[in-house]
Amino acid sequence: MPNKLEPNQLLVKNMVATICGSDLHTWRGRRSAHVPLVLGHEGMGKIIGMGEPTLPQRKALKIGDRVTWSIFDRCFHCMPCTAFNIPQKCDNLFKYGHTSLEKGNGLDGCYSSHTLVRGGTHVVSIPDCISNQLAAPLNCAFSTIHAALDLKKFPEDTHFDTALVLGAGLLGLYTCIVLRHLFNVSKVFITDKNPEREQMATKFGAIPVPSLETDSQGFIQKFNTSFIQQQTKHGVDIVVETCGDPEAVPDGIHLLRFGGHFVMVGLVHPKSSLGSLTGYEIIHKCATIHGIHNYGPEHLDRSISFLSSVVDQYPFHELVSAPLPLSAMDEAFDLAASQKWSRVCVDLE
Ligand SMILES: [Zn+2]
Ligand SMILES: [Zn+2]
Repeated sequence: MPNKLEPNQLLVKNMVATICGSDLHTWRGRRSAHVPLVLGHEGMGKIIGMGEPTLPQRKALKIGDRVTWSIFDRCFHCMPCTAFNIPQKCDNLFKYGHTSLEKGNGLDGCYSSHTLVRGGTHVVSIPDCISNQLAAPLNCAFSTIHAALDLKKFPEDTHFDTALVLGAGLLGLYTCIVLRHLFNVSKVFITDKNPEREQMATKFGAIPVPSLETDSQGFIQKFNTSFIQQQTKHGVDIVVETCGDPEAVPDGIHLLRFGGHFVMVGLVHPKSSLGSLTGYEIIHKCATIHGIHNYGPEHLDRSISFLSSVVDQYPFHELVSAPLPLSAMDEAFDLAASQKWSRVCVDLE
């Protein structure tokens, strides 16, 4: 434990964390990490120590507040932090749950008892209407979707009536809600190889695309894409990829209307070559491609306010497991890999 906190630093007693899909990629060895490290970045906790607050944002916080924090710390001074306005790519970036013990201080990951929140990290208080379990994914899954679907990135007069979401995990389900509430999309189609997850999406206002072919375990191998074509004369206005499966992308481009938007969020691992997709298809479609990695501070703020406004309208509690103790971390990862829950929760108290 630190003896003294620097200005704007916070010492947080971690309360719960959730296992993010990107941690599953690391755990499975699909992407590399410098070890030893404390994994985990989707989390929340209670402030138990504060360095002198000099930033206005820090002055609004107090000991005992339930908080979550941006998954990265930035310097405020470099080109990405200032001119480019993409602080998640700061020249002096530090990422929670991704930094080896050698480079960090040991209090950097959420799968642990405490986090030392650095001075350049955006921190937000969690309102009472959001439970601990639901607050944990705010700083990754939910904020990333608000970055991906930031209305500033879409011309105001864009026609958005239909959408296709690839993947019905937590990112995909949350995307359905954001598209319907903030983009006024009337029809959101969704695909997921796991038919149970596709069905869950109906509770979040989405229309599952039927399967054409399943494997021996019941997982969907081919979707009936004509189901979408029959209902959208020109194709869908926007496709959002959240599934992390590069094979889903060519179908998504194919179903996009001329001049539509294709947003990529889930392919956060190096094995994401887009296979049969050609440049011609993108050009011919006059498609706008958006690549989104992480988010900015305003998106964390927006995820708190948006989730607060819809939390009573959807069965979010069906998505996050009951908390497992930190001592059962292996079991928690196995459960996360089984896809029984959109998020598996870990109790850190
Ligand atoms: Zn994450
Ligand atoms: Zn910077």
